[in-house]
Amino acid sequence: MYKIAERIQVVRNRIKSAEENAQRTPSCVKLLAVSKTRTSQEIAKAFECGITAFGENYLQEAELKQDQLKELDIEWHFIGPIQSNKTLSIANRFNWVHSVDRLKIAERLSRQRSCNEPLNICIQVNISEENTKSGVLIDELEPLIQETLQLPNLKVRGLMTIPSANSTHDELVISYQKMRQIQQKIQQDIPHFDTLSMGMSNDFELAIQEGSHIVRIGTALFGPRNYNKTH
Ligand SMILES: *Cc1c(COP(=O)(O)O)cnc(C)c1O
Repeated sequence: MYKIAERIQVVRNRIKSAEENAQRTPSCVKLLAVSKTRTSQEIAKAFECGITAFGENYLQEAELKQDQLKELDIEWHFIGPIQSNKTLSIANRFNWVHSVDRLKIAERLSRQRSCNEPLNICIQVNISEENTKSGVLIDELEPLIQETLQLPNLKVRGLMTIPSANSTHDELVISYQKMRQIQQKIQQDIPHFDTLSMGMSNDFELAIQEGSHIVRIGTALFGPRNYNKTH
């Protein structure tokens, strides 16, 4: 077996156990393979092992790999910071965007989306309230969601967050619980607001315990990243 095949199996088993421990519905958690800095060959290998959703952070890098892999039926997710001059490509090359954190970007994505299907988006929340992090603050979240819901070519699916890397276990629990509370409250009125994108290699079991629907995993699937290779 390829090394990556073994890693994928391990991650799948850990997700399954976490779902069981949390008494979640089996297979309710989606595995998003975060493929930033990884080659097209690595993505193709993961695809052979049954992974179909890949997350990219850098548009130029993503475009290259998307062109090389266009024969594969991959669901592409954009999870990185969004510059407004990049929205045309993001709006049309991806199935999901997890990192929408201001109305201007949402409006551009909606206006520029030319596929028949609406673009699935999550609103990124700055849950740890760090001033360096992208994401909307909790206080500004609901107005942004309400305005974004009006945009015709977007399907607002839920919330995404990247908690501070320095968070303690208890801080993470509190952050994730806050996210879930807000998502569930909004879902009462908007049934398709059904997604919490939270949990990465180091904390995905905890995120699943706290109700995550999409875990975004890079290192645990592909090994340590070497940024020098591609950036
Ligand atoms: C890089 C990245 C991940 C994956 O991180 P790992 O720790 O390698 O699993 C997840 N989400 C976002 C937004 C990222 O940028």
